Amino acid sequence: MSIKERLAEIQNKIVAAARRVNRDPKEIKLIAVSKNQELAKIDSLQEEGVVDFGESRVQALRDRYEQFPEVKWHMIGHLQRNKVKYLARMERCELIHSLDSLRLAKKINKRAGMEDRVMKALVQVNIAEDENKYGLYASEIIDYLHQVSDFENLQIKGLMTILPHVDDAEELRPYFKEMKNLFDRIKEENISQVKMDELSMGMSNDFEVAIEEGATMIRLGRSLFGSRGY
Ligand SMILES: *Cc1c(COP(=O)(O)O)cnc(C)c1O
Repeated sequence: MSIKERLAEIQNKIVAAARRVNRDPKEIKLIAVSKNQELAKIDSLQEEGVVDFGESRVQALRDRYEQFPEVKWHMIGHLQRNKVKYLARMERCELIHSLDSLRLAKKINKRAGMEDRVMKALVQVNIAEDENKYGLYASEIIDYLHQVSDFENLQIKGLMTILPHVDDAEELRPYFKEMKNLFDRIKEENISQVKMDELSMGMSNDFEVAIEEGATMIRLGRSLFGSRGY
């Protein structure tokens, strides 16, 4: 199957999953995860109208940034504080999905301030409380949001989670539900300056379940590009 055919098939699945739960498919944004993928495939997806691409490493983002002047880039992997300065300089660094500590938030706020901009970020939630994963525990999120809410150059836009790979995506449904509940609860808190617009969850194996449970952003790598090349 060509990459364009794969994209069409995925778009059909997105529409079908949204319709099953009476959601508008337009609420769901596809982030094409281009990590370790050939550049020609990024071109092909752009031709089909895909604008948002994700990378999990800052260095890859830097390497690809100038080459694709139309792309809006999403930083989806763990972010080290000493790399924040590079992202702050990239105007088309659209969204950081992986805000996972107060120290990182402070650094982003500072570097974005130096560039005279506001950077947007999602708070990464370790919803499955997996010791080997980054992210805050659900019980910590509301306190955390109060701590970062008045940062002038960092805008919180929502939540993100990364779930373990399992053969049957249904096993993950309870975690997606917990994320949506947390997301809705935070909305009700009405924390000043904090927005809950985006819920980034769902990857190649589980995106249909994630959409059924309320994802607004899905991050797809292998199912879209084919297995990672290099
Ligand atoms: C690699 C990656 C993805 C995409 O994973 P696939 O299973 O290839 O769809 C999504 N999110 C994050 C944070 C990733 O690192």
